[in-house]
Amino acid sequence: MVEKERVSLCNDKEVKNGKYVLYWMQASQRAHFNPALEYAVLVANTMNKPLIVLFCIMPEYLTASFRHYQFMIEGLQETAQTIRGYGAAFIIKAGDPCEIIKELSESSSMIVFDFAYLDFMKAVRKKISAQTACRVVQVEGNVVVPVAAASSKEEYSAATLRPKVSAVISKYLNSEEEITELKNKISDPQIESLTEQQAKEYIKKFRTNNRYFDESRFIGGYSHARQKLDDFIKYKLHNYADMKNDPTSEVQSDLSPYLHFGQISPVYIANQITKVLSESAQEYLEELIVRRELAHNFVMYNDDYAQYNSVPAWAKKTLAEHLSDPREHCYSQKQLEDAQTHDEYWNSAQNELLLTGKMHNYMRMYWGKKIIEWSETPQKAFETMVYLNDRYEMDGRDPSGYAGICWCFGKHDRPWSPRSIFGNVRYMNDKGLERKFKIQKYVQRIKDLKKGS
Ligand SMILES: Cc1cc2nc3c(=O)[nH]c(=O)nc-3n(C[C@H](O)[C@H](O)[C@H](O)COP(=O)(O)OP(=O)(O)OC[C@H]3O[C@@H](n4cnc5c(N)ncnc54)[C@H](O)[C@@H]3O)c2cc1C
Repeated sequence: MVEKERVSLCNDKEVKNGKYVLYWMQASQRAHFNPALEYAVLVANTMNKPLIVLFCIMPEYLTASFRHYQFMIEGLQETAQTIRGYGAAFIIKAGDPCEIIKELSESSSMIVFDFAYLDFMKAVRKKISAQTACRVVQVEGNVVVPVAAASSKEEYSAATLRPKVSAVISKYLNSEEEITELKNKISDPQIESLTEQQAKEYIKKFRTNNRYFDESRFIGGYSHARQKLDDFIKYKLHNYADMKNDPTSEVQSDLSPYLHFGQISPVYIANQITKVLSESAQEYLEELIVRRELAHNFVMYNDDYAQYNSVPAWAKKTLAEHLSDPREHCYSQKQLEDAQTHDEYWNSAQNELLLTGKMHNYMRMYWGKKIIEWSETPQKAFETMVYLNDRYEMDGRDPSGYAGICWCFGKHDRPWSPRSIFGNVRYMNDKGLERKFKIQKYVQRIKDLKKGS
């Protein structure tokens, strides 16, 4: 069932009597638990039209590297196969979606989008909606609770969002997937499309022969995401509450790259985790729903989410007051990128990111706090973090990334006792890592990883 709060109109054009219904899949790259797809199937069946699902490979998508494209194409192969099994056509094109959809819209009865939160993708959807002659509708399927259904404003913290989410969540958590077979099946839409093999060839142009851009330890696709979720529930979840912060424990689910590309649904994950009644399951749902959807709330309601301007006023003030505090170490973006600092814990975290495409959550906090400490200005620190996070994290260019970076500057947090450079913004140091964890074990693991790769 597609809840009505997930669906919104993007233009005021009429539904036309075209040849097909077009679903432009971009944010929700999956065939299962995908409300945009369910909605498109429903419309196509109601109108007795065939459904065409389009995927556009966008060259130069923000700062994406080959390993991001590869992960995406791996996922699409499986998605395409499942969707064709439902009786829809799945076509892949490379290029500007505005141009591609302009052409396809001429024969469309109606167009369905999945929902975008980032500026760049919102602008593309707006342009397409304005230039098309038929109705365009978008469906918000990558969060458990649609952002506006939880709150109509930017929330101050997890504590203010949590009760709002709790009040409505049951409506969205228990929803069942309802993909029905298409009445009007189509096998050859007579529209030029790349085959999955050609798509694989196409993305080879993004290869750099630099392993940090080309290789990751993740294989994309719904089946891999499902396997990770099943393994997590079986082998790791019981330790999650106690050990999720420990970078040596590896009890995280590793689902963030799959969530970022929309290869698995957060509703599906939440439904599976909810079946486990434990403190750890509650802790996991807190991260998956409250923290993740707080990040979506931030990006939806704060236009400056990727800029220093989004830092709260109290934090900007205190950081400005400490601008002239002496900085013992100051590193350039290149030194940071190459993991060339005096701090072996920080270097290990950066190396983990370079080598695997995913840094442990606790080390991301430490990593960000240290970039603030070692940059000439907080503005420069913010820019460096956005660059490194988006370029290297497999889950980068995501609402949780921008919120995570902003958290390092005091967002969704509270003022703490004053410190040099940070003022009242929370500070983290290496002694904390040594006190809480067997941090040398983490350092050794990353060293072994580097040697072995
Ligand atoms: C500086 C910084 C940068 C970050 N950049 C990103 C990013 O680019 N993309 C990204 O998805 N997350 C980012 N995070 C949040 C968090 O670190 C990752 O979501 C988490 O490490 C992903 O690993 P996992 O899936 O194994 O997490 P698990 O611990 O298994 O958590 C499950 C899911 O809950 C959500 N989640 C967990 N922690 C957070 C959090 N703190 N904020 C929001 N959602 C959360 C994620 O969707 C995650 O996949 C960042 C955090 C910080 C401090």
